[in-house]
Amino acid sequence: MSLYVKFWGVRGSLPSSMTPQGWTSHIQNILSEYDSKKSNTASQFLASKKLHEVGGYGTGTTCVEVKSAKTQLIIDGGTGIRNFSEKIMSGTSGHVKGPYHIYMTHFHWDHVMGLPFFTPHFISGTQIHYYGVQKDIETLIRGIFKRPYFPVAFEQLAAKIHFHILEPRQPYQIGDMTITPYLLDHPDPCWGLKVEAAGKCYSHCVDTEGTRVSREELGPDLHLYEKVDLMYFDAQYTFPELAEKANWGHSAAQIGLDLAFREGIKKVLFAHHDPGATIEQIQSIKDQTLEYFQWRLDHAKECNEEIPACEWDFAYEGLEIKL
Ligand SMILES: [Zn+2]
Ligand SMILES: [Zn+2]
Repeated sequence: MSLYVKFWGVRGSLPSSMTPQGWTSHIQNILSEYDSKKSNTASQFLASKKLHEVGGYGTGTTCVEVKSAKTQLIIDGGTGIRNFSEKIMSGTSGHVKGPYHIYMTHFHWDHVMGLPFFTPHFISGTQIHYYGVQKDIETLIRGIFKRPYFPVAFEQLAAKIHFHILEPRQPYQIGDMTITPYLLDHPDPCWGLKVEAAGKCYSHCVDTEGTRVSREELGPDLHLYEKVDLMYFDAQYTFPELAEKANWGHSAAQIGLDLAFREGIKKVLFAHHDPGATIEQIQSIKDQTLEYFQWRLDHAKECNEEIPACEWDFAYEGLEIKL
């Protein structure tokens, strides 16, 4: 295995689920397609559909696990980290006491809210390493474990916690994995991450508006998009919404696709789904993305332009990718 990536939380801004009314109408839509003459059982019918078509994209905010042969890295502590913590505590991941390496892109609520629910913090003998470009990372993490926001103070945590301040755009080695932070386009600086191991590369580009698009504008941050096998990109908005929500710090799939085509990125997963987006709305954004993707391919054909192959999809909670 070169790199394994699991998406524990893919929502943006706020953890959210559809309302009971929303779920009821979604279930009604699904059931309206069920024909007992064609499908022997309800479970066979559901199995014939994609997981996210039935169950949605998940509620948890940003948390991504990236694993190489020898190193496990967690990117951000959104509420998705809680399910990851549950898996660790069930003992099935094999090493309850870590060490855990957690890289923080930035400290907006949706990227830190799950950290107090990462149970290894409370286990004696556990080693937890926090990494970030922010020079005050220790103060920022300490502030999360503080009354009246959380009843257990940082000083009471049983785990041994270490802090590592990374230099922007400078590679840092964790075991057999190399991580390099690059600047994204977001209010309050957000540092995306390039993760490399065994010749494979994952590029974490959430949260970003993608306002710098040309190679010249990106300057030293262009490396975040070069020689990438899998890019995780912010697509909270539709393309028209992007104009209405300028400077909100989030992007649209069309921006990510343009980057991917130009830089030859092999696969893109879009995420940071809007807290208000229903399954049907995300499907509609996917349809718009497909339309644009097809237009790019057709346009390239008409102009006799070489365009690299690029796979893409919208991420859902629990999705696993092996590179
Ligand atoms: Zn966010
Ligand atoms: Zn943010």
